[in-house]
Amino acid sequence: MSNSPQIPFNKAYLTGKEALYIQDVLSGEERLSGNGKYAKACQSFFEQRYGIKKALMTTSCTHALEMCALLLDIEKGDEVIIPSYTFVSTANAFALRGAKIRFADSLSDHPNVDPKSIHSLITPKTKAIVVVHYAGYPCDMNAIMEMANEQEICVIEDAAQAIEGNYKGKALGSIGHLATFSFHETKNIQCGEGGLLAINDAEFIERAEVIWEKGTNRSAFLEGKVDHYEWVDLGSSYLPSELNTAFLYGQLEEIDNIQLKRKEVWNVYKRAFEQFSDESLKSDNSPILIQEEISNAHMFYVLFEDKESRDRAIVRLKSKGFQAVFHYQSLHRSLYFKTKYEGEELQFADYFSDCLLRLPFHHEMNEDLVFQCVESLLEI
Ligand SMILES: *Cc1c(COP(=O)(O)O)cnc(C)c1O
Repeated sequence: MSNSPQIPFNKAYLTGKEALYIQDVLSGEERLSGNGKYAKACQSFFEQRYGIKKALMTTSCTHALEMCALLLDIEKGDEVIIPSYTFVSTANAFALRGAKIRFADSLSDHPNVDPKSIHSLITPKTKAIVVVHYAGYPCDMNAIMEMANEQEICVIEDAAQAIEGNYKGKALGSIGHLATFSFHETKNIQCGEGGLLAINDAEFIERAEVIWEKGTNRSAFLEGKVDHYEWVDLGSSYLPSELNTAFLYGQLEEIDNIQLKRKEVWNVYKRAFEQFSDESLKSDNSPILIQEEISNAHMFYVLFEDKESRDRAIVRLKSKGFQAVFHYQSLHRSLYFKTKYEGEELQFADYFSDCLLRLPFHHEMNEDLVFQCVESLLEI
């Protein structure tokens, strides 16, 4: 077998509708720039399906997070609590505005942030708490919202991976004061690059539209509320082109089918694991499965006891043609941040950095491939 993996970790799924809607935009009847027919359709989809007060399409989840930092008037001296086990954008958006980032640890038994760790970091300077629903699995939002509301701190859900996820019957992204989604090609619903800002606290809506439109009141002008538009606040260029939102709408219309396919793949992985462990084929240092529920079938990952076994599994899977990948490296230990970090050791964030492995997950992972992959992983 060849040394380079033939089965990639991720493969973008196309519904076929993307090209149709892009063709519609190209017909010349519609505008090409942002906030057109398709952007509005995508926004209503989010508002109606997930109970979000106001949704605004953005060029990425990273940019939606940057909008949150602007909306909260984050400035030098403010503190923002962020999990260390997350993507760099979660922290960068606030660091860009001069905030002091206070990194929280993961739970001992899940990559999601530990509310107790958040609690220990709250000071009078805390302006925001950002949570990340890892693999679409919900953080303990009751504990986090209660703590934040008591101290009048804003909560932002980085729901980049969490579309269709829910917490006690509420859609993820509809609970925090603000939330952000990603449509990067590695996410369940994608348009190459794209994102969305979800506003659940209505107080932020008007200003968010200004920040979104380069710091102008153009949105109000387009709605006929003012007779011209001008510079009224800070802002930037956060609107995606209609080509991107048309593509995205072609995915959103098929969301139930896309999710069904992903859940099938997830269930096959689960079954493969169960079958192999039933047959007592697992060795002592076999990886463990901690996902009890499917959540939104964003990914399938396993945990090893130590980094060496995890790294060996990556090499072994590669030799069998499967591309398996680790995930975040704790941000407090990153090249950029480690010399600035003053907090305690974050042992669980570090554990997930070192020991977590994600398996190939996409629509082309059929039953045979999944079983082969799990078999190679368990070295049977
Ligand atoms: C993917 C991801 C992002 C970044 O999303 P972009 O749309 O690529 O900017 C941010 N946070 C988390 C948790 C992610 O998984």
